[in-house]
Amino acid sequence: MNLALATVSKVLKFSCVDGPGNRLVLFLQGCNFACPSCHNPHTINLCNHCGDCVPTCPTGALTMVEGKVLHDASICSQCDKCLDVCPINANPKVTQYSVDDVLALVRKNKPFLNGITVSGGEATTQLKFIIALFTAIKADKTLHDLTCFIDSNGHLPEAAWKSVLPVTDGVMLDIKAFDRALHVKLTGRSNERVLASARQLFEAGKLHELRYLLIPERTDGQQELKQLFEFVRELDVDLKLRLNAFQHHGVKGGALKWPTMKKADVERIAQDLKARGLKNVVTPSVYI
Ligand code: SF4
Ligand code: SF4
Repeated sequence: MNLALATVSKVLKFSCVDGPGNRLVLFLQGCNFACPSCHNPHTINLCNHCGDCVPTCPTGALTMVEGKVLHDASICSQCDKCLDVCPINANPKVTQYSVDDVLALVRKNKPFLNGITVSGGEATTQLKFIIALFTAIKADKTLHDLTCFIDSNGHLPEAAWKSVLPVTDGVMLDIKAFDRALHVKLTGRSNERVLASARQLFEAGKLHELRYLLIPERTDGQQELKQLFEFVRELDVDLKLRLNAFQHHGVKGGALKWPTMKKADVERIAQDLKARGLKNVVTPSVYI
């Protein structure tokens, strides 16, 4: 039995947008960035059990017991009122999963799956659990053909990547900005580790795709796009580059006043990157 535990915000039993094929996705709670543009801001922090959300729950699914907020999933209506009122972008509905819990879930859905993806929040903030889970999947005779992917913001040091890559098949990595000061504004952190992670993962043959969020007047300027182009070209013009478009869905706070990214502008940028030589630029299929 493996005793590693993860704090999980949500489980998707099937997803076709979180890596190759059909995947079971674990969204792990907690992030080391604080992006105003985040469309899942309730995954950023861990609950401090202040209790502010308890009275807002219309079904009584939240109770305070011995200083801890407890969530009863059986009577939760998923109205998300608790997420709206939380002052620190946390989530009282998290669940603790052991490696064995996840393996049982994966086994149940195995006939329909190509693999498993850990996302977030920032998945790598729970790296020990990821290593334990992926190691267990690779060692299991009935599961070892499933691929194990990580969706990451890249803020993980080189040595830590080295500890998880032997059991990882691929990583989807976000680059929020190339200009360092802009990256700090958009995430609260510098981008040196992110860029180093992208290079390290590429060298290791584990960089499945790079993702870049286009935000009007912030990350869609000529200088940023030039650096994006040069960065991908230096790695490999065939590398998959997924352009995402900033929208208001799920966003909280000041970023709701930022303009949203229009399809025509995303397509124009994609065409320009392709015309300059990038061969695998992917644009969003929906804009919400
Ligand atoms: S989820 Fe937020 S509001 Fe609710 S108890 Fe935790 S920190 Fe407080
Ligand atoms: S989503 Fe939150 S507020 Fe709504 S019923 Fe569930 S626990 Fe209560």
